[in-house]
Amino acid sequence: MTRNALVTGASRGIGRAIAVRLAADGVGLIGIHYGSNRAAAEETARLVESAGARAVLIGADLGEDGAKAAAEIAAAWTEAALAGDDGLDILVNNAGINGNQELHELDPATARRVLEVNLIAPMFLTQAVAPHLREGGRVVNVSTGYTRVAAPTHLTYAAAKAGINNLTRSLAAPLAARGATVNAVLPGVIETDINADWINLPGPRAQADALSVFGRIGTPEEVADAVGFLASPQSRWVTGETLDVTGGSAL
Ligand code: NAD
Repeated sequence: MTRNALVTGASRGIGRAIAVRLAADGVGLIGIHYGSNRAAAEETARLVESAGARAVLIGADLGEDGAKAAAEIAAAWTEAALAGDDGLDILVNNAGINGNQELHELDPATARRVLEVNLIAPMFLTQAVAPHLREGGRVVNVSTGYTRVAAPTHLTYAAAKAGINNLTRSLAAPLAARGATVNAVLPGVIETDINADWINLPGPRAQADALSVFGRIGTPEEVADAVGFLASPQSRWVTGETLDVTGGSAL
């Protein structure tokens, strides 16, 4: 039986690259979750189909009530994708927002939204799909390298992702009871729209390039390749782990 996968925030950026990578790896059916940009999600679906997989689109905003949205996504997956077979092989909790704020800028509305998208939604989506994970199942969380260092400009974001790191470790034993693994990747600065407001400004770009020992920022495909390993059968003895994918930043 071919494996299937559900990737959140797969309309663009790292999520799109993960969906395409999983399709190239032979995953036969991919749920492409998106927030609001259906046209972008359709483009991901086209790429996934070109790589040989079937795609289903699932729209849900995670920012208001992440737990409710998670339940909607899980229900849509069961209904639309599986026609009676509600098993899931791979969940990738990728959707995220930045919400860069320093201490004096913190406001409750932004902080709540960042926590809903980056922590509450993945927590409850994992809960919702856990009973459906098949033997050898995989959960991969997309966290951030910011969780390894002080992040005074991204307080809520880094705190939410640090929560994901601990969730990853804490869920290893409960998911092992189902024969599944759970791991996280910690990307460094990657060329995506989440950084659109600054990534092409010469000064900040040079600073970001200099963070990695390779002297450049990363690509979505470089994160997707790491996720591809953690989603594959070859990672079966790796669980509860956080994998640094920063190109050697802040070593
Ligand atoms: P991106 O902005 O291109 O993609 C983010 C995705 O999340 C989009 O598909 C978007 O639709 C989805 N999303 C955002 N808010 C949502 C909401 N309210 N409801 C539903 N979906 C929503 O950015 P990206 O770089 O591809 O980010 C992917 C993941 O990688 C995120 O979790 C991000 O925190 C993480 N990350 C990115 C970088 C980086 O530098 N790009 C670094 C470390 C970690």
